[in-house]
Amino acid sequence: MVTLQNQIAAAAGPGREARLLAVSKLQPASAIAALAAQGQRAFGENYVQEAADKVQALAALDLEWHLIGHLQSNKADIAARIFDWVQTVDRDKLVTALARHRPAGLAPLNVLIQVNIDDEDSKHGCQPAEVADLAATIAAQERLRLRGLMAIPAPFPEAEKRRAAFQRMHELFTGLTAHHPHVDTLSMGMSGDYADAIAAGSTMVRVGTALFGQRPTS
Ligand SMILES: *Cc1c(COP(=O)(O)O)cnc(C)c1O
Repeated sequence: MVTLQNQIAAAAGPGREARLLAVSKLQPASAIAALAAQGQRAFGENYVQEAADKVQALAALDLEWHLIGHLQSNKADIAARIFDWVQTVDRDKLVTALARHRPAGLAPLNVLIQVNIDDEDSKHGCQPAEVADLAATIAAQERLRLRGLMAIPAPFPEAEKRRAAFQRMHELFTGLTAHHPHVDTLSMGMSGDYADAIAAGSTMVRVGTALFGQRPTS
């Protein structure tokens, strides 16, 4: 983990930093606990039920849990209770469901808008042109806190195309901060491309394989 953190710091350069979100989908709770013992606090999960089990098992560790997988509306009630961040908000219906179910005793739920930056049929996320309206809808909810944007760009073979997607995300992000000054998070970059993502302005990289090794298959 220390090596990865050094590489992230090197990619960010002086005066900038990118947070490391440890992507723990399909990893056992014991693997998460081992990383937590080395000081890692933020973990990303893709599946609500799997996450619920781990959150409960590791409650004593005071970790920060992020949902980075697609969220079905009928699971919004569980998600609003167990996560600290939901990075995959891409439609109004989810906004109202999460706000309604966020327990009063908890801090507002941190929310990122997922953008389908390469306009892929297979990917969730809103269109770039929809970000402004969705951001306004989120900002109007007291139980939610808009923190920024998230994307999973298409795995183009050409590095140029992949970098262009990161750059378009950064432009969108800059535009968003003009209207929502407290927005501070641009979540992009995974094991294979986090350095390019950071170079383009990512503030949070989501790394699984490079941290835990190959994922167990479910
Ligand atoms: C699995 C996953 C990651 C991590 O991918 P790695 O290549 O293992 O680093 C990051 N983001 C999302 C949304 C994921 O589903």
